[in-house]
Amino acid sequence: MKKYIFGNWKMYLDHKESIDLANVLSKKIKKNDTYEVAVFPSLLSFLEVSTKLNNKVNIGAQNCAWVSKGAYTGEVSAHILADVGCKYVLVGHSERRHIFGETNELVRKKLEAVLDAGLIPVLCIGETQADRDEDKIQYRLKKQLMKALEGIDINAENIIFAYEPVWAIGTGTPCLPADADDIHGWLKLEIKNYIKGEAKILYGGSVNVDNATSYLDYEMIDGLLVGGASVKSDDFLKILDIEYKK
Ligand code: PEP
Repeated sequence: MKKYIFGNWKMYLDHKESIDLANVLSKKIKKNDTYEVAVFPSLLSFLEVSTKLNNKVNIGAQNCAWVSKGAYTGEVSAHILADVGCKYVLVGHSERRHIFGETNELVRKKLEAVLDAGLIPVLCIGETQADRDEDKIQYRLKKQLMKALEGIDINAENIIFAYEPVWAIGTGTPCLPADADDIHGWLKLEIKNYIKGEAKILYGGSVNVDNATSYLDYEMIDGLLVGGASVKSDDFLKILDIEYKK
């Protein structure tokens, strides 16, 4: 089964660095049956990165507006993203939820906006350390899923999930692969309450060159959403099993 390796560049790279990284990736990555690769650059560099990637690597957006058009200064809609070759949009990333105060209700609206534009949402869910301490992992994940998906009519091919425990994102403390696999197994059953077919769930949170394969070896883990390690060309390529020396 093809696994998904997605790189969230966050706001780590300036324009030139983004183009340089896209150049390296487009030279090294070939379409293949092992991995579906996508990167999520900053919006400013989106078009140029997309041109450089030349369809060899898919491209996604880190965020979008919850409406399609209108007087929304500073926003970019999923429809506009669809016009410029975007395939995926991250929805509900923990940094959007926790730094920008995005609620489950807003996440739902964004999810609908992405689907309406014909793009594939990558719905990110995850518990905090406090949830973990209070034994509320399942409670938190169930709530995020229910608020995002209840009443939605959608097939598994049209959505991807990312299990990203908040305490593991950018901290250097990943969730152990076996624990992530258990949670993914439970999530796949839970998600059956809302969507048709078997959900694809990526793991995200402090994935690096050394631990990436241990996740990919697990059956319930359909791929990885990589943050910090995705902006270092040699690390990202090694995660994809491609040797690269500058
Ligand atoms: C992320 O941004 O989704 C992420 C998982 O970040 P990192 O890999 O840096 O923890």
